Amino acid sequence: MSLARQALLRMSRSRWLAGQMSKRAFARRAVRRFMPGEDPEASLAAAGVLATKGLGTLLTQLGENLTSLDEAAQVRDHYLWLCDRIQALDIPSQPSIKLTQFGLDLSEAACTEYVMAVAARAEATGSFLWVDIEDSSYVDRTLAIFRKLRERHEKVGLALQAYLHRTPADLAALMPLNPAIRLVKGAYAEPPAVAMPVKRDVDKAFASLGEQMLDAAARGEAFPVFGTHDLNLVQHLTDYAVKAGATDGSWEIAMLYGIRAAEQHRLAAEGRRVRTLISYGEHWFPWYMRRLAERPANVWFVMKSLVGG
Ligand SMILES: Cc1cc2nc3c(=O)[nH]c(=O)nc-3n(C[C@H](O)[C@H](O)[C@H](O)COP(=O)(O)OP(=O)(O)OC[C@H]3O[C@@H](n4cnc5c(N)ncnc54)[C@H](O)[C@@H]3O)c2cc1C
Repeated sequence: MSLARQALLRMSRSRWLAGQMSKRAFARRAVRRFMPGEDPEASLAAAGVLATKGLGTLLTQLGENLTSLDEAAQVRDHYLWLCDRIQALDIPSQPSIKLTQFGLDLSEAACTEYVMAVAARAEATGSFLWVDIEDSSYVDRTLAIFRKLRERHEKVGLALQAYLHRTPADLAALMPLNPAIRLVKGAYAEPPAVAMPVKRDVDKAFASLGEQMLDAAARGEAFPVFGTHDLNLVQHLTDYAVKAGATDGSWEIAMLYGIRAAEQHRLAAEGRRVRTLISYGEHWFPWYMRRLAERPANVWFVMKSLVGG
């Protein structure tokens, strides 16, 4: 991992910096590149515009680690509201959540109950609930809760990280569920014993897991979503889908708002199913630092915002 990436990921965990940066106008200007606004209505409006161009969306409220279950209940209520708004606006949007925002650090039982309520509402409103995957210390608990959700609800999917050594085994264990899986490379700083430190190896692992998922999609046994901006991988998996016989509606590509926007539109125009993940909320600092860490050259945009560009 590059020094710049390590430094940015370390900064992402600083509460002091988060407090400082959230107040600075230049930082708020810079973050606009990756989110339409802090208000969920700004994201819903952006989702409406993307829908007119044939792109679906994933919507996520950014949050910090919680200090009480009351806060988790507020997050649950927010997503219940979001499901209703998605239905009222009739847009192809799906909520994507982090279990730590639902109180995973405080009570696994309460967290499960709260997420179950959102899964039920997503299903009832014709949407679909995605569970993000966080750092490796949460993976076992996330898998356990995902299995509980799937016992009661069909319309729930889970993200898995290609960089983790354990992911091939996790994917194999989930396959009997006919799962919806969003494969991503992985965004956290992990030790080499847990995650592959070399990017080339992560890319190879992504391709291999992606191929397995497309083979399963062709048999109607999985719904893969590839959450990546890596156009080589997207092309490779698109070609592989044709070879495997996985039709265009049986898998998706997902990218973040503000990244590779032109490619997202091009892929959708070419008949691929594409979703844009839009984030909103005031607690954007750690998330934003992870975006900078993915491409330290992005720090340039922050510098430009600093001088008013
Ligand atoms: C829809 C979606 C959902 C995600 N969900 C999760 C999750 O639940 N858990 C998790 O750990 N991670 C998640 N991630 C983040 C993911 O793990 C990677 O950190 C992130 O996608 C960067 O890797 P990449 O696949 O785009 O490939 P890379 O090889 O890092 O990037 C490929 C190319 O894309 C461009 N690019 C990539 N990132 C940026 C950026 N930030 N700014 C500008 N250009 C960029 C660059 O040109 C780069 O060369 C998600 C990503 C997406 C797109």
